[in-house]
Amino acid sequence: MNATESFLSTLLATPAEAAAPLVQLNNVHLAFGDNQVLQGIDVEVRRGQAVSIIGPSGSGKSTILRCITGLLRPQSGAITVGETRVDALRTEAELIALRKRVGFVFQQYNLFPHLTVLQNLVIAPTRVIGRDHATAERDARALLDKVRLGHKADAYPGELSGGQQQRVAIARALAMRPELILFDEVTSALDPETVGEVLTVIRDLVDDGMTCVLVTHEMRFAEEISDQVYFTEAGRIVEHGPVSQIFGQPRSERTRAFLQRAL
Ligand code: ADP
Ligand code: MG
Repeated sequence: MNATESFLSTLLATPAEAAAPLVQLNNVHLAFGDNQVLQGIDVEVRRGQAVSIIGPSGSGKSTILRCITGLLRPQSGAITVGETRVDALRTEAELIALRKRVGFVFQQYNLFPHLTVLQNLVIAPTRVIGRDHATAERDARALLDKVRLGHKADAYPGELSGGQQQRVAIARALAMRPELILFDEVTSALDPETVGEVLTVIRDLVDDGMTCVLVTHEMRFAEEISDQVYFTEAGRIVEHGPVSQIFGQPRSERTRAFLQRAL
């Protein structure tokens, strides 16, 4: 190895790092009272992958995402994000540190109505992670361009369509420079005509190599963008595999029946 090669190799992930999953759930069990909501969930997400979780309503998809962010703690099993054992985090400071690394976008965009679009993107990076205002604003403008809303920086959320607000919410999550981003049915509350523009933004992120976990009812979209698909039912992973398997040749009759109804 010459000097240049050896310098470059220090910038790249070692093979072991590149191969290690960014997110891992191992035999995760979670109950709300008597309701066994997750009954031994195993999920693995590698860096740069887009992973979709599909399945009937109430099967535990949102609960899985909330476990990854540390919002819910399972009764047993292990959850890791990078080197962090999420299920072992105890203090509020540790949980906040995790949530900076894991972006989360859900159905309700919950933008601050009294702040402009730009201010919505600047507030968390400056207040939560102490980024200086000029840097945060420069990042925010670049992200607004990325979600194709550069021209709306000074608008208020109430002046935007649902699809535009959801794109702002995605940009706001990205403003924290997360390692991965979780999307929970982000198009379910939108008018049909604005769904496509939000999916386009997610597709761009996946193409850029952002690690994404997507819970969605948009089966065609999941089929198009995912590397891996997990099918959940009643708190269990019934089947998982590459898109070609799940959509092309599902092994489970349950998966087949679900997709037949959903597609
Ligand atoms: P999905 O996202 O697949 O529709 P969820 O993960 O939201 O499913 O919910 C799975 C199950 O957990 C459902 O039976 C739901 O009623 C229950 N559940 C979800 N959140 C709570 C909660 N905070 N308290 C009690 N039960 C809950
Ligand atoms: Mg849900």
